[in-house]
This record gives sequence, structure tokens and C-alpha cells, in this order.
Amino acid sequence: MDYDKLRQQMVDLQIISRGISDPRVLDAFRRVPRHIFVPEDMRDSAYSDCALPIGNGQTISQPYMVAAMTAQLKLKGNETVLEIGTGSGYQAAILSQLCQRVITIERVESLLEKAKKIIQQTGYNNIKFVTGDGTLGYPDSAPYDGIIVTAGCPRIPQPLVDQLKDKGRLVLPVGSTYQQVLTTVFKAGNEILTEESIPCVFVPLIGKFGWREV
Ligand code: SAM
Repeated sequence: MDYDKLRQQMVDLQIISRGISDPRVLDAFRRVPRHIFVPEDMRDSAYSDCALPIGNGQTISQPYMVAAMTAQLKLKGNETVLEIGTGSGYQAAILSQLCQRVITIERVESLLEKAKKIIQQTGYNNIKFVTGDGTLGYPDSAPYDGIIVTAGCPRIPQPLVDQLKDKGRLVLPVGSTYQQVLTTVFKAGNEILTEESIPCVFVPLIGKFGWREV
């Protein structure tokens, strides 16, 4: 399989064609080897236009969805970004190319360890890995320029809004367990502005300010 070629096609046919145009975001998707973040027996599908299972009932999101959420953060390069839901580590790897520092939190320890090992192979060294309930945010490194939640939220978790810098952006899917709407929260002084964009389907965010575990 020519993964490099498949990756360039993914960017052209799935990301640019759907309106993502930030050259820094496109470059990150051209560089980061998505196939190493999926289970070995699925590598040939790594650049397909869909989410894929990564074990523990969790998924690596569709490339376009990762790109749409990343673009909403409007990163310039000097930011600190918090990601909730490490999963495979792919979104964290993309973010690591676009900002100064990434903190990524995952509640399933085995997934976090797997993601950490894969990212070690890439040499991306500006990512801190944390196990825990990401609905509480990560106050130790707050406030953040950007926060991204890669699991479906029943509502906007207040600790994440609290840990956002002034002019910071929080991007997250909000809705039911079946379908959500990609939502961007923008902090402007005492004002909190929210904007809804595309419909999406994510696995649930489980935690104190998310869904209850069943
Ligand atoms: N960003 C991931 C990637 O690039 O592969 C995809 C994430 S997957 C769609 C959602 C992840 O969120 C799952 O790995 C799940 O275990 C995790 N998750 C769910 N609730 C969480 C919570 N409260 N804190 C941290 N992680 C959580």
C-alpha cells in the first residue's frame, strides 16, 4: 500500500473538497501518518472516509471530522491546547503540528498507553498524556487557548469553559447519544458566544459533566 499517496488523496478528496482551506491544517494532515494510529489489520482502510474501531468500543474519528474540529480552533502556532478523548492519539498528533503544547486526557488507561507508544515512534514531543475524567478539564495547565472534546457531550461542561483563556475557543459535539452538532464556544471577556455548525456522531463523553456510565 502506498500510504503517502493515499494520504494526499485523503486531503484532496475528503478535506479540501469539503471546504477546509487553512494551509497549516492541510499540511498537518499531509504529514501525520494516520495508518500507524489504527489497528494493524485495518491499516489499508486508514485513509478511508470514515471512523474506524480502535478497541474498547472506541473509534478514531473520520478524517474530515478531525479536520473540521481542528480548523475551528484557528490555531496560529503558539497556543496551549487541551484535548479530551485521546483515543488513538491521531487528533493529538495533528494538534501537535499546529500549536506549541498539547495536553490530552483519556479515561481508558490502555488506550492512553497505546497512543503514547505510537506517538513516541513519531518523535512528536510536545504532547503530555493524562489519564482521568476529562469533563473536569485539567486545571494544572489551565487556562487554555483551545480545548477540543472528541466525544459526544450532553451539554457544554462548565469546567472546560472556566479553563478557557479570554479569546479562547472550545470545540465539541453537543447533543444526544445518537447525534450531536459540532459546537464552538468563544470566550470574549464575560461573554460566552456559541456557534453550531455540522451534524456529527461521536461515542459518548462519560464523566461527571458528561454522560453516566451504563
Ligand atoms: N481523538 C481520538 C482520536 O484521534 O483517535 C478519538 C476519540 S474517540 C471518538 C473518544 C474518546 O473519548 C474515547 O477514547 C473515550 O474513551 C474517550 N472519553 C470518553 N469520555 C471521556 C472522559 N470523560 N475523559 C477522557 N476521555 C473520555
